[in-house]
Amino acid sequence: MQDNLYLLAHIVELLPLDVLVTEVDGTVGYANAHALRTLGYEKKELIGSSVDTHLAGISGEPAWQELHDKLVLGENVACRINAVHRDGREVVCALQAVRVAGVENCPDTLVLILREIARELSDAEQIERKNLELAKMNTELIRSNAELKRVSEMKTNFLSIASHELKTPLTSIKGYSDIIIDTMKDVLGPDVYRMIENINRAADRLHKVVNNILDVTRIEQKRLKLKPEEVDLPVMIKECIEELTQFSEKRNISFKCSFAPDVPPFYGDRMRIHQVFTNLFSNALKYSPDGSSVQISLWLEEGCRFHAVVKDEGIGIGKEEQKKVFYPFYEVASPTRHTSDASRFMGGGTGLGLSIVKGIVERHGGLIWVVSKGPTEGEFPGSEFHVLLPVRPVIGEDDNETKALYLERPEEQMGVAEPHPAVEEKPELLFIDDDREAVEIARMVLENAFDVLWAEDGEKGLAMAFERRPSLILLDSRLPGLDGYRVCRILRTQDETRDIPIAFFSAASQNDEIQRSFACGADDFVIKPFSGRELVEKIWRVLMKKKEVDTFK
Ligand code: ADP
Repeated sequence: MQDNLYLLAHIVELLPLDVLVTEVDGTVGYANAHALRTLGYEKKELIGSSVDTHLAGISGEPAWQELHDKLVLGENVACRINAVHRDGREVVCALQAVRVAGVENCPDTLVLILREIARELSDAEQIERKNLELAKMNTELIRSNAELKRVSEMKTNFLSIASHELKTPLTSIKGYSDIIIDTMKDVLGPDVYRMIENINRAADRLHKVVNNILDVTRIEQKRLKLKPEEVDLPVMIKECIEELTQFSEKRNISFKCSFAPDVPPFYGDRMRIHQVFTNLFSNALKYSPDGSSVQISLWLEEGCRFHAVVKDEGIGIGKEEQKKVFYPFYEVASPTRHTSDASRFMGGGTGLGLSIVKGIVERHGGLIWVVSKGPTEGEFPGSEFHVLLPVRPVIGEDDNETKALYLERPEEQMGVAEPHPAVEEKPELLFIDDDREAVEIARMVLENAFDVLWAEDGEKGLAMAFERRPSLILLDSRLPGLDGYRVCRILRTQDETRDIPIAFFSAASQNDEIQRSFACGADDFVIKPFSGRELVEKIWRVLMKKKEVDTFK
């Protein structure tokens, strides 16, 4: 008897079929050698696992759960099912399963016998199976694409909000240091003064980075708006070179231009195209050794598009990197790689410049690419950046982007407001803004020529506006409680305040915020961080306009 049992066990173990024995709840208690091979597990891994993790239903056949219910009730089962290998491969099998009553101390068990039938399937079935697998993979792809898109949108939104939030504290750093530089040179020791200048420059740099991140998010969200006008490209290119003279001269790098004669004007966004060339030229400077030269050529192709080439004698860009350099935040190597004993030159940046350049060029219907042999030890193969721009690109309607968006604020200094010769009494300005620091800085700039009132939220602001009827209200859009837009609408509907000029005073980074402000009745917009000069100019402009209107009433 014992011998027979041993023989039987041996036969089951060696059967060319998968044999699985489970407890009634589906926990695997035994698997023969063939089953281990089919499923790709060691015995000790499979024993104790749940059998449903190794089986997958086939369309048109009952699912394992349904089969299990039947088995538990004592019904025999015969159908097709997939055995799932640990690497995810699925093998079509014919399944036969029964519930076997226990004897003596042994509990009931379920016995599953699986026979691979993939090879026996008809061609049509094989095709259907493959189609099914493809459909499954396709669904997976669609799902992961949607997930990637969601994560990418989250990243872009995060960048936009984070940069916006950075602008507010930057206003304080920049504003206070401007005021100290402008007014306290004589009282400060030279060391402290230099430190303040360093803080001021660092704030400018940070502001540029924040603006770059905002540009990248605009490009990614397809929100880059253009204000097209006629631009003389050779003149603009020379201006860009001129602005970089202090860097190029220090490094003894010369710019050589060769422009085809009589190129027509280009119809595009002046500021953005300026940004394109400045970025390309400063990269050419950054990644080239001292004493080298940069060649810029511009000509007209087939009478309908400009072709510009910026050719440097720098470190070059490897073939595999030539596409990637246009991705946001992509940098080929650490800045130290751009410095060698043979040459002193600086690399390093944020990896945003070229992605912005590409976004701007493509927004104008153009193309950009780079040609380079790639860096080789001790040699400077150089890079050629090619830009194609249609002479008259078809770009969307001017979206009324306000001029304020384009003002370069940090380079300007804060200054102190002077009274206007045509105004006798000090006008009263009401700031409705929860950003105490920004108002403090504005007060320091303005109080020589204006009386400054302050309310830290919308409700207090409304009360103060009704009571004092100031000459001008400066209103932040993002206020706690009643937001700036609602405050503006209320002010515009009430007799006491309807005619008071309102300028929004906000760290707006998005056009729609500015447009919304105008839509609810604002007269102007001041973007934080602001320059003192800009603020004063805007205030006087709005007040003078109001004066003119009142005179003609
Ligand atoms: P960054 O602020 O790092 O310069 P960019 O987006 O302008 O960012 O450039 C991305 C990367 O492309 C740089 O980090 C640099 O490695 C490489 N690169 C850009 N321009 C040049 C060039 N003219 N020569 C060599 N490498 C360049």
